Formats: sequence, C-alpha cells, structure tokens
Amino acid sequence: MKEALRFSVMGEDDNVYEVSIERDCDDLGNLQATCSCGKALEGEICSHRFEILEGGTANIVSENLDDVHALRKWIRGSDIEVAMQELSKAKTELMLAHEKVARCRALLAKRMLD
Ligand SMILES: [Zn+2]
Repeated sequence: MKEALRFSVMGEDDNVYEVSIERDCDDLGNLQATCSCGKALEGEICSHRFEILEGGTANIVSENLDDVHALRKWIRGSDIEVAMQELSKAKTELMLAHEKVARCRALLAKRMLD
C-alpha cells in the first residue's frame, strides 16, 4: 500500500502544479517525488519538488502546511535525503573550487606585476 503527501505549488509562470511525495508502507526509506510541471515530465529536477523537499513553504497554495512537518519526518533517513546531502556537499565543493580559482587568478595577476 502506498501513502502520499500532496502539495499544490505556485510556479514562477503563475501556474499551479501538483507535487506528490509517495512511499510504500513496506519500504518507508524509498520516496518517490513527482510533479505535474513540464520539466518534471521531461525527467528533470524541477524547482517545485526541490523546494518542497528542502522544506520550503513560500509557494505552497494548498491548505496543508502541516504536511510539511510530516514530510520532514519522511525524508529523514530516506534515499532522497542521502541524495540531497550528496548534492549539497558537491555544491559546497564546487563553491570552494570557484573560490580557489579566484585566489589563484589573483595571485597570478599579482605575480605578473611584481
Ligand atoms: Zn515541477
């Protein structure tokens, strides 16, 4: 049996999309997240699902803000949490790499002048 948390989300294009987070009662750590927007239907990560999974509530237009707390519990220890942590770590590494590139460029520019 599956259970689902569903949120209506206002998109940047002023359309309302349906984000659904589902899990099988026999496999609670395996979440599925779907969205009715075009990007999601093309198999890409859309901002609607990402925002909901990150706990964002600003664009939720359905009357179930309490489900955000339930979702937080669902995410804890799930496959999606692990993948989101990996993504977050990779973004941090990328940011640090950008900073290092900037420092190296500045040093190179300085060496060119002294
Ligand atoms: Zn979407």
